[in-house]
Amino acid sequence: MHAMTTTFRFYAELNDFLAPEQRGREFALRCARAATAKHMIEVLGVPHTEVELVLVNGESVGFERALGDGERVTVYPKFEALDVTPLLRVRERALRATRFVADSHLGGLAHLLRMTGFDTLYDNHFRDDEIERIAAAQGRIVLTRDRELLKRRGLMHGCYVHALRSKPQLREVFDRLDLAGSAQPFTRCLSCNAPLRTIDKAQVASRLPAGVLERYEHFVVCDSCGRVFWQGTHWRRMREMVDALLAPES
Ligand SMILES: [Zn+2]
Repeated sequence: MHAMTTTFRFYAELNDFLAPEQRGREFALRCARAATAKHMIEVLGVPHTEVELVLVNGESVGFERALGDGERVTVYPKFEALDVTPLLRVRERALRATRFVADSHLGGLAHLLRMTGFDTLYDNHFRDDEIERIAAAQGRIVLTRDRELLKRRGLMHGCYVHALRSKPQLREVFDRLDLAGSAQPFTRCLSCNAPLRTIDKAQVASRLPAGVLERYEHFVVCDSCGRVFWQGTHWRRMREMVDALLAPES
């Protein structure tokens, strides 16, 4: 059995996935001969979805590049790779629409993404294979804190979420995917993920308390669950929260 020694160096937050002694430095690793770049990167604990650029001996390569003895592999996440744009990317193209499927632990984040208008499927019964299938069939980006899920072969677009609480998680996803410009707050039902539709006051009058009818003129409805929303106190609280989230970080 021929083995070979390859040198690796990972940049920025990709180091979070590595064993402590491998972080922030070059290290040598014995690999099976002709192991692919993708395979070795995932063996080291880094899901392929987190990687934007791989260099071997200073040249950009695709994930399927077979590694050779004595080669030097450097691996970059999206942000760190920005200043080397002309190089080959490991994924050919970005998805046309930004749509998500969140794993069963990210209900809070899914809720906030819907609040900011992004189509986000979430169900706390989703299994990993279902998430993989849904993402592939519908062109959705998988959101998870489970790196084994991101290593699945059929999974092309994913985002490992580093933060533990939902608001910092939303900030992290917004920054990584540059979403602030395409946010459309309050256009999507928080419980169903269905788009909201404006509706004439007269059509919903019979379903609303008199106090609401007196104070508000504009209403939206979810055709999936039938709920009617207006810009009341709850809406204003959410509006303030969303504005704070969308504001550039100081
Ligand atoms: Zn609804």
